[in-house]
This record gives sequence, C-alpha cells and structure tokens, in this order.
Amino acid sequence: MKKEHAFETQVIHSGYDAKEHLGSLTTPLFQTSTFTFESAEQGEKRFAGEEGGYIYSRLANPTVKALEERMAQLEGADAALAFGSGMAAVSATLIALTKANDHIICSQGIYGCTYGLLTMLEEKYNIQTEFSNMKTEEALRSLIRPETACIYLETPINPTMELIDLSLVVRVAKEYDIPVVVDNTFCSPYLQQPLALGCDIVLHSATKYIGGHGDVVAGVLVGKQAFIDCVASTTQKDIGGILSPFDAWLLLRGLKTLPVRMDRHCVNAEQIVRKLQSHPAVGSVYYPGDATNPDYPIMQKQMKRGGGLISFEIKGDKQDAQFMLNQLTFIKKAVSLGDAETLIQHPATMTHSVVPEATREQMGIRDSLIRLSVGLEAWEDIWDDMQQALNKLVSSE
Ligand SMILES: *Cc1c(COP(=O)(O)O)cnc(C)c1O
Repeated sequence: MKKEHAFETQVIHSGYDAKEHLGSLTTPLFQTSTFTFESAEQGEKRFAGEEGGYIYSRLANPTVKALEERMAQLEGADAALAFGSGMAAVSATLIALTKANDHIICSQGIYGCTYGLLTMLEEKYNIQTEFSNMKTEEALRSLIRPETACIYLETPINPTMELIDLSLVVRVAKEYDIPVVVDNTFCSPYLQQPLALGCDIVLHSATKYIGGHGDVVAGVLVGKQAFIDCVASTTQKDIGGILSPFDAWLLLRGLKTLPVRMDRHCVNAEQIVRKLQSHPAVGSVYYPGDATNPDYPIMQKQMKRGGGLISFEIKGDKQDAQFMLNQLTFIKKAVSLGDAETLIQHPATMTHSVVPEATREQMGIRDSLIRLSVGLEAWEDIWDDMQQALNKLVSSE
C-alpha cells in the first residue's frame, strides 16, 4: 500500500494484500487460538525470535495484525496494537509508561473509567495525577516534576467538548522530553491526527467511530516502534487484554466507511447545534465546530471538522434532564458514541458518576449537562425527536 494514497483509499486497502490470501477480497478471519509448528525446532526458533511466524493468538494473529497495520497507517504511526477494549489500551499504555511514585499530568476532564484507573494507580502505586486545563504553557510547565512520566489528554474532552491545543502541549513536553498521550476516540484519525502535530502516543476506544456500528468493544494504540514493541511484550502480552480475531474483522469492515460516516456525523451535528441554540429549554451548547465556540480557533488548527458529539445544558436540574431523556421516541438512551444510531446520555449520573461530585463540578459536568452522539439518521428526524422532548420540558415548567 503506497503511503501517498488518500485517507479514503487507505481505510479500504492498507494493511492487506489479497495476493497473500488466495485472492480473498476481504481480510480472512483467522479464528484460531494457536498456530501449529512444522517441527519442534521451528517452535524453538519462533520462541527465540529467530524466525518470523505466528505462535499463539495472544501474541499475534493475522486478522488482528491487518487491523493494526491499517490503523498505524491511518494515524501516521510506525506501528499499532489492538486491544479487547479502549480501557485495555489505556491501562496497558499507562502501566507501561509509569512506575511506583511517578507523576502524571492529565487534562481537566477525562473519560470516567480512565479517571477510575488513575485513582487506582494512585492508591496502589502512589502514582499521582494532577489535572490541568492546559490553556497556557505556563500552567502546564508549573506542574512538571522530575518524576512526571507522561502528559495524558483528551481533546475534545469528554463530555464538556473543550479542546486542548496539541501544539502548545507538545512544545512544553519536548522541552522536558515527556511523552504526550492523546485519547483520540472522539475524532478518529479522519478528523484529527495528533502524531502529525508531534504527540507521541495515540489511543482509541475503537468501540466508537472506528467500529461505528455498535457491535464491538475494542481499543487501539499507535506510536513509535520501540514503544509499541515494549507494550506488545509486557503490558499487552502479560496482562492480556487482547482483541479477538472476529472483533478485528468487524473493525476492518467498519473502518472502510469511516470517512463517509464521519462526514455525515459532522453534517448532522452542525444542523442539530444550530437548532439547539435557538430552543428556549436549552442553555449553553458545546460544539467545537461552532464558530461562536471559544475553542473554534483550536478546532481549525488541529481538527478537520467539529465531529459528531454535542453537549448542552438544559435549563433545569437532574430531574428535568431525566424527564427530557424519557420523552425521546427513537433516539436511544445509551452510553457509548459514534454509532449509526443517535445516542443520548446524562454524564453526571452515567459515564461520569464514578467521578466525585466536587471534581465533577470542577470539570464542568453539571446535572443539567446532556451529551448527544449524533447518528447517521436524517437530521430532520433527529431534531424532530429532540424538539418534541425539549418542548415538553418547557411546557412542564
Ligand atoms: C469509551 C471511551 C473509552 C473507553 O473505551 P472502551 O472501549 O469502552 O473500553 C475511553 N476513552 C473515551 C474518550 C471513550 O469515549
């Protein structure tokens, strides 16, 4: 696969050569746990690393490898590793990067289970995490210590949709030689490629836009060869959160339509944002692709478009938020995101309920905040459903 092919071509072709597989158009599914050796000596050589070839599917599997090669190419990385969930990718990465008593600088606002993992690392290994909005170089620099092992961030931040300027973070991190890890789940490589901006490691919950069809839980990690090799031979091999061949096969299938789906998610989201902004039951609307959003200049610098996620405040409390969700007809009340179906959730009581209330407040996750993952349906239908639910909120006052 030539590097110079466009992204839209790479999502379909890279990492796979039909000639190697009897001409099969799609990547074959190697649904096998282990691989047979032709001789005992061959087994010995493979274990010693003297001969290439497969050994056991926790170590490597051809279907999973095809996915990894495609993802590495799409993110512009040396190499990739696939995992059984986004959290398996997050935990394998953070455990590989840190040792007891280290320090992590993290974005002010983070996926709920990542927050849970950071809390666990502190309790078990005294690895301390400090949160920063990373708005200025000074703010970031003031937190750096000799034992800072990495800067870990999401942009857009889940669920507040605030952005972090990746070039700013990279400038500071390079001065101190600290790796920058970006959870790129909300964007997918179609909308944002942090490695091209100098970040070191990118990971995904592939459950979301990469799979795109709500039928698989998976994670992907990409980065430089040395780091990927390190994870492959330690926190992936020995902790074992690997991806199944069938799930890799589903992700290869999903990836082919990533650019088409993302464009539609963005178009739909832009329309819904416009409508939400003029509804009387709605307060602030957070969407980085909106020209009135304070982070819009950062969006223009590092993202192709605003993406498919919108957060907004309703004028009301927790009960009102729950009431609104309960009025929806076809929009699904569910966590996760990036699916064909429009999904809606209440972060304070769902994805971010593990975050203590005071920290939630600091992160801007109020009881009135609702997160919408805009699907691929006709946007007019999505808005009709949202509007009738929001109207009931106004009339119930
Ligand atoms: C869903 C999600 C995760 C966790 O991924 P799983 O596949 O559910 O384990 C991590 N980060 C972000 C931003 C997510 O949305």
